[in-house]
Amino acid sequence: MSMRIYCPQCGKYVRAVFTQKGVELKCGHRPTKRMILFTVHMPEYWLRQIDFLVKIGRFSSRSEAIRYAVRNLLMEEFEGIEREKEVIKYFLRRRGRK
Ligand SMILES: [Zn+2]
Repeated sequence: MSMRIYCPQCGKYVRAVFTQKGVELKCGHRPTKRMILFTVHMPEYWLRQIDFLVKIGRFSSRSEAIRYAVRNLLMEEFEGIEREKEVIKYFLRRRGRK
């Protein structure tokens, strides 16, 4: 699955492949591993459920659980965007044939 993500070294959005292992940038740069701390509001019972998953050893920390969820969200959303782009391209090509 491919998408465009921001490369700080290039200073622009570049093609990238999103895999379970992580992100591979087509420009050859490695995505930065720098972590950013930010605040999120969520229902308390979600957090308690995450704490349970940490307690039973499914994840090593709240952060790891949330990163896992966000990575899956990004893959799903960007896959959807790529599919939509393909559909649009298909219809534009068809329209061009008339
Ligand atoms: Zn780059």
